Amino acid sequence: MKERDIIIIGSGPAGLTAAIYCGRAGHKSLVVEGVPSGGQLLTTSEVENFPGFPDGISGPELIENMRKQAERFGAEFVMKDVTSVDFMSYPFKVNAEGDEYSARAVIISTGAKARYLDIPSVEVFKGKGISACATCDGFFYRDSILYVIGGGDTAVEEAIFLTKFAKEVNIVHRRDQLRAEKYMQDKLFENPKIHVIWDSVVLDIVGTKESGVQGLILKNVKTDEVTERPADGIFMGIGHSPATTVFKDQIVLDEKGYIICTDGAKTSVEGVFAAGDVRDPQFRQAVAAAGTGCKAAIEADRFLRDVLTK
Ligand code: NDP
Repeated sequence: MKERDIIIIGSGPAGLTAAIYCGRAGHKSLVVEGVPSGGQLLTTSEVENFPGFPDGISGPELIENMRKQAERFGAEFVMKDVTSVDFMSYPFKVNAEGDEYSARAVIISTGAKARYLDIPSVEVFKGKGISACATCDGFFYRDSILYVIGGGDTAVEEAIFLTKFAKEVNIVHRRDQLRAEKYMQDKLFENPKIHVIWDSVVLDIVGTKESGVQGLILKNVKTDEVTERPADGIFMGIGHSPATTVFKDQIVLDEKGYIICTDGAKTSVEGVFAAGDVRDPQFRQAVAAAGTGCKAAIEADRFLRDVLTK
């Protein structure tokens, strides 16, 4: 068993910021990155609201910079998924696809994953016309008719990005008002390729196994009118779920699976801290994740000092 001072689980802005702070506090830390590594920023084309980058920066570049900074302060990385943890024994145990590690403190920063609509045809067409990542898959939809489901920042950002490739992008939103930030809404409404279909939900997705998605069936929730429309691709922008399955029997989660934190970054287990989207259903910003990564590292450092002096 390989022992570390601190194990950081996850390598988005929360985990990498935690790694920078842990290193600077003189701790030997291991980042179990997760596969793929880098978190949601890796599939974000342009980050325009991270302070310090007046002209914006691409998500992958921002992550790469943070990673280099963490390495500079001695963080070690392993590109594996954590498959189980034991926070009942101390030092804590972390298993990453068969590799056993122990640590005197753990920071969880596993983030959140995109949600998909809960209709059976979504499973049939995942990867065959259904995606939750415009940056990853948009390129394959040149001159296509696309749909983005949802009315938040993700949906609006995805829709704007997809206009680089598509002939037409339709946002389907279940209400008559978007929840995306005003700046993004303005960008959306001024884009001639984007149309918003208000008050509508997806009843079904149609197509064949061979050719993938060919259309979708929408229902207007105010008029009950049902329409079938042609579609080449459908992108999900309906929010995220926290990646906490491996922790569910070990620490206290809320009813949606987010880690409950008190006092900054403390979880229900002393010595285990949480940072980023995995404990934040509300703000979900890269800069907020980095902020809680910093808090978690400072609290982990204080905890370790207390342990050493006892
Ligand atoms: P949100 O939870 O903000 O929005 C989800 C959207 O999907 C809502 O409009 C919601 O509708 C709709 N929705 C949810 N479930 C369903 C369903 N089953 N069927 C149909 N529609 C559904 O998630 P986002 O991922 O957009 O954003 C999450 C957070 O991340 C926010 O805080 C956001 O600001 C942030 N973010 C910031 C970005 C940036 O600053 N560049 C980029 C992306 C995200 P309704 O409105 O009716 O609830």
